[in-house]
Amino acid sequence: MGENIETFLAQLGNRVDEQTGAVSAPIHLSTTYSHPKFGHSTGFDYTRTKNPTRAILEEGLAKLEEGAQAIVTSSGMSAIQLVFQLFPAGSAFLVSRDLYGGSYRYFKEIERQGIAKFLYFDTEEELAAQITENISAVFIETPTNPLMREVSIKRVAEIAKSKGALTIVDNTFLTPLRQKPLTQGADLVVHSATKFLAGHNDILAGVVVAKTQELGERLLYLANTTGPTLAAFDCWLFIRSLKTLPLRFNQQEKNAKIVVEVLQNHPAVKEVFYPGVGAMVSFKIADESKVGPFLEQLKLFTYAESLGGVESLITYPTTQTHADIPEAERLAYGLTPDLLRLSIGIEDAHDLAADLTQGLSIVTRK
Ligand SMILES: *Cc1c(COP(=O)(O)O)cnc(C)c1O
Repeated sequence: MGENIETFLAQLGNRVDEQTGAVSAPIHLSTTYSHPKFGHSTGFDYTRTKNPTRAILEEGLAKLEEGAQAIVTSSGMSAIQLVFQLFPAGSAFLVSRDLYGGSYRYFKEIERQGIAKFLYFDTEEELAAQITENISAVFIETPTNPLMREVSIKRVAEIAKSKGALTIVDNTFLTPLRQKPLTQGADLVVHSATKFLAGHNDILAGVVVAKTQELGERLLYLANTTGPTLAAFDCWLFIRSLKTLPLRFNQQEKNAKIVVEVLQNHPAVKEVFYPGVGAMVSFKIADESKVGPFLEQLKLFTYAESLGGVESLITYPTTQTHADIPEAERLAYGLTPDLLRLSIGIEDAHDLAADLTQGLSIVTRK
């Protein structure tokens, strides 16, 4: 990328419509495109295959993650599903143990259907100990959701490659502003763009970015075949959102660091999980029986699922995002019922800190 990322994103979609000079990229709602002559195409035939608004967005995202091809889908889950269609039935995978609950549910479901097999790991050592030539790909989150565990993408990709496996990274939490897995050896990146990339809690979207043209072409073929691609209007909202991604993310991260300090020094907080980067913070509350009253006491933080938007949210993974992971399994890896997860927004940090402090005042001190 020649220019800096802020410049590139602010200008995304500008200068694409020479005819009118539109500064904001047009929304092409047409599902079909006329052929100028028999056997000729404008490059657009049918919107499932390719849409002009989506194409602008996909080119932007490919550049952002430094990949050859991006595909924008209707949700993060459809992006993950698209990636797993790359592998033949019966394939085996090694995946992060602490994982978004929906990804876990999807893996369990395709395992139940006999389509794939999954093994779980926490550390690079556990990965190295379990991997064999039978593993088709390694799928990781780093940092993980919600325990913020980290692995080295470079190391994971080296281990995977040594056995001929691909590396897939869910980069939802850090975005390419802080982490570019394809530059560290990963083959594929997925995002729930519903979260930081779109950032306004108003569109559901997913992204897959492939490092090589070859993988990109195969994914385009699969996307055209199975039809998970995002509608034009949502693509336009997504383009608009990306223009402010650096502004939003920088503010969210700055706020998160202030919130982390307040939590770390609060007597009603047992433990804080923050990887030192990004805007996701988890913490354990001193008195687990006060989770409900604490959530009800908050005025600014909204008790809701999801993350990454401009509005700060608080989530209770045990009953919300991670409820589909069996209790014994959750407890065994540290996802205990005293854990809460914060997604820090762009509000004033001191207002956020004050809300947490007044909320925590009702929790018994440790
Ligand atoms: C939300 C989320 C997903 C799923 O994305 P949707 O857009 O909700 O389908 C996948 N991975 C992570 C890390 C998430 O937070």
